Amino acid sequence: MQFKRTDVLVIGSGLSGLFASLVLAERGLKVLIVTKEEIDISNSHVAQGGIATVIDLHQDSFQKHIEDTITAGAGLNRRDAVDFFVKRGPETIESLRGLGVHFSTRDDGNLDLGWEGGHTERRVVHAGDITGNELISVLKERVVKDRRITIWQHHTAIDLITTRKFTLAAENRAVGAYVLTQEGAVITVEAGAVLLATGGCGKVYLYTSNPDVATGDGVAIGFRAGVPAVNMEMVQFHPTILYHEKVRSMLLSEALRGEGGILRTRDGRTFMEKYHPMKSLAPRDVTARAIDHELKKRGDDFVLLDMTMLDPDFIVNRFPNLFKKCFDAGIDMRRDPIPVVPAAHYMCGGLQCSPEGTTCVPGLFVAGEVAHTGLHGANRLASNSLLEAAVMARYAAEEIVRWQAAPKDAVGPLPLWNEEGVSDSEENVVVKQNWDEIRHCMWNYVGIVRSDRRLERALKRISLIKQEITEYYWNFKVTRDLLELRNITLVAEIIVRSAMKRKESRGLHYNTDHPQKLADAHDTELSPEELLG
Ligand SMILES: Cc1cc2nc3c(=O)[nH]c(=O)nc-3n(C[C@H](O)[C@H](O)[C@H](O)COP(=O)(O)OP(=O)(O)OC[C@H]3O[C@@H](n4cnc5c(N)ncnc54)[C@H](O)[C@@H]3O)c2cc1C
Repeated sequence: MQFKRTDVLVIGSGLSGLFASLVLAERGLKVLIVTKEEIDISNSHVAQGGIATVIDLHQDSFQKHIEDTITAGAGLNRRDAVDFFVKRGPETIESLRGLGVHFSTRDDGNLDLGWEGGHTERRVVHAGDITGNELISVLKERVVKDRRITIWQHHTAIDLITTRKFTLAAENRAVGAYVLTQEGAVITVEAGAVLLATGGCGKVYLYTSNPDVATGDGVAIGFRAGVPAVNMEMVQFHPTILYHEKVRSMLLSEALRGEGGILRTRDGRTFMEKYHPMKSLAPRDVTARAIDHELKKRGDDFVLLDMTMLDPDFIVNRFPNLFKKCFDAGIDMRRDPIPVVPAAHYMCGGLQCSPEGTTCVPGLFVAGEVAHTGLHGANRLASNSLLEAAVMARYAAEEIVRWQAAPKDAVGPLPLWNEEGVSDSEENVVVKQNWDEIRHCMWNYVGIVRSDRRLERALKRISLIKQEITEYYWNFKVTRDLLELRNITLVAEIIVRSAMKRKESRGLHYNTDHPQKLADAHDTELSPEELLG
């Protein structure tokens, strides 16, 4: 097959992609979901802690959630966006429950609310410590059964087809995308609308909590199609990833500290009191920087997350999944403090859009981690990202329904993928070498603590790699590895250039040459024209 036509092309099968697809199908549209691996490989699937939402109106309020979000975001948040998401949380939880998602409840039947770092109240709706697994299993079951939804697993979106780029119509709009199959063929997909729901970019860094699919493809694809990227320097490093010689990317949820876990250096001393009044419950950026500082100062490889003072039965019942995973790795949380390090976790920046997911390219919509709505500001409050992904999925779907119904000029046949003059690559080592180089470079120079000189050094390296890859891209047949390398390189460059533009330290971005926070908070915006010409 060289060509496929659908009403809506959804790229990505995390919470935002699956939830939006169900809403779209419910409204009578034909949906094609393309996803890089199996349907349930995503950041959403591995989410543990839960979804931040105001449920207990006696104790909590929208205002408190809004204030906590803006405090964590160091004032860079867009107030209207924060308001939008916080107030739509309860109805979104109800609609997920309506689809069959089971969240943990207390004996009285009310939702059990967890407490996480940076929150001043208990407001995290969760399904034990496997919230993502529950969400994705339920949505997946529904999507698979829905006859209006087609799923292409092991398919990778390459780039969007826009009318301007291919001079198909006077007005610019997205009309489809090129999609690479597992066998190496490229299919032209024509769609009335495209939803990018591709998640984050943890793999740009050497150490990350994200699965391998998180290579920032959506940011790169949307950026190449003309959508600006905002605040991409704001990369959240999760403070507590398991430090283990065999187990990779295992995150130890914020909820562990929320329920009483304490951070200690290897010699058993507490240290968070030196960095924040909330001590081990401090927001993530402060905690990650504090750990980074202690590790560098002491020359240690890890710090300890100590749960041993808590009731052993509580540990096993509240964190059954984490308890088992740690136990299998040789760590008994009831007796042994857990060795942890920080790692790249969440992309607070993303493609510029409205809270409903509309972008400056008509017909192109975004939802979830790929989007920059202004909710997170300079740092994401724990469990606000599943909230954003779920709320956006519903509202972006409604926007797409409206867009589909609006009259548009017809476009001629879409151009098929052109492979003239390209050959199979015999030099896969070039791809591997550049992958490793980018990720090391980003970790060492554009990590938790940055400086002007480190950023300049990073940009030089990345620019060289970019040249090499561009040449490679046009001369050889595309593979998933090559596409991902091309995307992480562009995303790395966007992160570095955004970091260079910010002449202050705020939230997740800390530059030793500009340690002060400026009086006014401004977004860093990078336009495709600036970078791609
Ligand atoms: C370990 C971990 C724990 C977390 N815990 C929490 C938590 O408790 N609470 C919270 O709020 N947030 C949490 N987060 C963050 C949250 O999970 C994510 O921000 C959210 O799930 C993003 O959802 P999404 O739908 O935008 O993207 P994802 O769930 O990441 O899905 C992206 C999808 O896009 C696909 N894709 C990407 N590129 C392409 C391409 N080129 N072609 C085709 N398909 C593509 C991927 O294969 C994947 O299916 C956690 C993240 C991690 C990594």
